[in-house]
Amino acid sequence: MARGGSRYGAGRPAWHVKAEHCLRLDVRELARRDMLAGGFYSWRWSNSHTGEEMGSIGINTRAGHARLNYAHNGQSINDDVRIIETACNYGGARPWFSCPRCSRRVAVLYLRSGRFMCRHCGRVAYASQAEDAMGRAWRRQAKLEARLGEGWRRPKGMHRATRERIVDGIFDCERQRDEALCAYVHRHGLLGDLGF
Ligand SMILES: [Zn+2]
Repeated sequence: MARGGSRYGAGRPAWHVKAEHCLRLDVRELARRDMLAGGFYSWRWSNSHTGEEMGSIGINTRAGHARLNYAHNGQSINDDVRIIETACNYGGARPWFSCPRCSRRVAVLYLRSGRFMCRHCGRVAYASQAEDAMGRAWRRQAKLEARLGEGWRRPKGMHRATRERIVDGIFDCERQRDEALCAYVHRHGLLGDLGF
C-alpha cells in the first residue's frame, strides 16, 4: 500500500473514503512529513498494484491536535484527535495519537466502521458488527420457526409451498450467519497482517 501526504493549499480539503480496508494513519509519518506543526493537509491511500486511489482525508493540525475530515456513507465526519508528545531518551520528542475512543496512546489509527480508532477499539467494533449481524439472523429465524410446528413440521391448514418457503427462509438465515462469521474471520486475518 502506497501512502503519501501532500501539502494542501488554503481552503477546504477534498476528502472522501472509498474503501476502509487497510486505511491507517501513522502519526510518525505525519511527523516525518512535517504535518503536525499546523495547517491543512490531505492524505491519500492508493493501491500499490493498480495505483487506484482507495481513499483520502483532510487533516487539519495545530499544536497537540488533529482534525480528520472525511466522508463515510455519504456523511461527512470530523474526528478530533489529540496528539501527545513524550520525551525521547536521547533528546527530542516523539508524537502519539490519543485514540478518540479509549484515549490509549498509539502510533497508528485505523479506519474501522467509518471512524478512526486504535487497533484494540477496531477489533471490538468488528466483533460487535458480526455479533449484530448474527443476532439479526437468529431473530429472523426464530420468527420463521414460530410459524412451523415442532421440528419444522407443517401445521394443519398450511400449504406445502408455504412451509417450503419458510424452511428456505430458515436456511437463508443460517447462510447469513455463516457469512457474518466468515467476514469477521476474514477481517481478523486482515488485521493479523497489520500486526494485530
Ligand atoms: Zn482505542
